[in-house]
Amino acid sequence: MSFALINGKIYTMDKNFSQVEAVLMRGNKIIKTGTKSEILSMADETTNIIDLKGKTVLPGFNDSHMHLVNYGSSLMQVDLIGAQSMDEIKERVQKFIQDGAIGKGTWVRGRGWNQDYFLGEKVFPDRYDLDNISREYPIILTRACGHVAVANSLALELIGIKKGSPQVDGGYFDIDQKGEPLGIFRENALDLLYSAVPRPTIQEIKEMMILAMDDMTSCGITSVGTDDLQSIPGVGYEEIITAYLELKQEGKLKVRIYEQCLIPELSLLEEFIGKGYKTGWGDELFKIGPLKLLIDGSLGARTAALNEPYADDPSTSGIVTKSQDELNEIVSFAHDNNMQIAIHGIGDKGMYMSFEAMENALNEKPADDHRNGIVHCQITDEYLLRKFKDLNAIAYIQPIFMDYDWKIVKDRIGAKREKTSYNWKTMSDMGINFACGSDSPVESFNVMYGIYEGVTRKDMEGKPEGGWLPDQALSVKEAVQGYTINGAFASFEESIKGSIEEGKMADMVVLSQDIFKINPTKIKDVNVDMTIFNGEIVFK
Ligand SMILES: [Zn+2]
Repeated sequence: MSFALINGKIYTMDKNFSQVEAVLMRGNKIIKTGTKSEILSMADETTNIIDLKGKTVLPGFNDSHMHLVNYGSSLMQVDLIGAQSMDEIKERVQKFIQDGAIGKGTWVRGRGWNQDYFLGEKVFPDRYDLDNISREYPIILTRACGHVAVANSLALELIGIKKGSPQVDGGYFDIDQKGEPLGIFRENALDLLYSAVPRPTIQEIKEMMILAMDDMTSCGITSVGTDDLQSIPGVGYEEIITAYLELKQEGKLKVRIYEQCLIPELSLLEEFIGKGYKTGWGDELFKIGPLKLLIDGSLGARTAALNEPYADDPSTSGIVTKSQDELNEIVSFAHDNNMQIAIHGIGDKGMYMSFEAMENALNEKPADDHRNGIVHCQITDEYLLRKFKDLNAIAYIQPIFMDYDWKIVKDRIGAKREKTSYNWKTMSDMGINFACGSDSPVESFNVMYGIYEGVTRKDMEGKPEGGWLPDQALSVKEAVQGYTINGAFASFEESIKGSIEEGKMADMVVLSQDIFKINPTKIKDVNVDMTIFNGEIVFK
């Protein structure tokens, strides 16, 4: 069976940025691009021909870093995004409990609050605020960044955290002057909290994945780099991999999965590799991607690791979750065993440490085409930007982070460090491979929002006037590359996807308007009209 699109404005995103009016697909591959008459001459009576009537077509989008399973499970949690007060959080959680007719004693989870959006005092909620919501349900509310969560007193009781409970490495729970826990958990201390929540079955995990993929295809996403292996407390990596492989077997994978394997312990990584897993294991539907590590936290929560203290809280420089030696050891082991490496690094110090570990591994065992990279890479300086280039490292950036971050970066780090941060245009000009993503569920994976923010350097409300660090605005072409071919490069798949070229996978998106021609401020309003994945229409 073949399938043709005709009368389109098809931006192939090939090396010459060429445009064609028609494309023919057979099975899951693109077999011909060209003029309408060329394509029609190759069609037969079984060919499904769609007249695009001048609509714009791009390669299917690639979200280079997100958390697919977390997003799916967040659909089953209270949505706290944008809440402007504790009262609003209370209202939303209580409505969730009522609407869901959830039985007493059942864990209630929420996600997405951000104290910077509070109209009153911009502080984290604590257990007493949550006790005000309910004392009959254990409640955990996770901050938008995922690096901080707050629990009520009943939850603390159930997990056994009380005055005098020991702290953990690489994180902590806050205590008051009397030593009583405040219900606020940071970084590695989150495990204490989440380990008490009942775990879903593989079937339930598959349902979460399907819900997530349905939403992604409606945004034109056909490929993701996704970090899922530790998404659900108590659920091991084998179960997540099994869930994906079963969906693949059942023909239900609607997005290509490149699994960014979060395995932060050396012994666990040894076991994982011992089972035969390594980067590239799998096929073009589900593939094992890089080892994913985290070296620091988030800027919003002031846990991103900085070389100098925070400008708005000189008592802290953030948190590193590993020592340099520990990081070197695990990075070298992964590198020696042919694992690509992607390290979450937001603060400059986190990135200095990450690059040191990568260089150390490369010195021991040189490799040309490692495609190691840093996820987020927000607070950069000139040294770090040059390091990306010198080490040929991938910068996994999130243009949609602009939405919130422009409001806090100057406060957190001051104008001097701000100037060389989020320097996406500089990265592009230097020839650094930057692959765009959303970090969903941290931010929306709507690619039109991401392109709009990357190009205008403005948030969804059009602020700040003139754009934030406007010199760092990407062109529309660069942004689209960031969401297509650059993402394919990050997964070593630029020869099979990321552009509309003969022989590549048939993944495409049809847009309601030509984003190369309209005013960039309007890009956020452009709709995805159709998504083609693996030669089939998966969204219309
Ligand atoms: Zn992430």
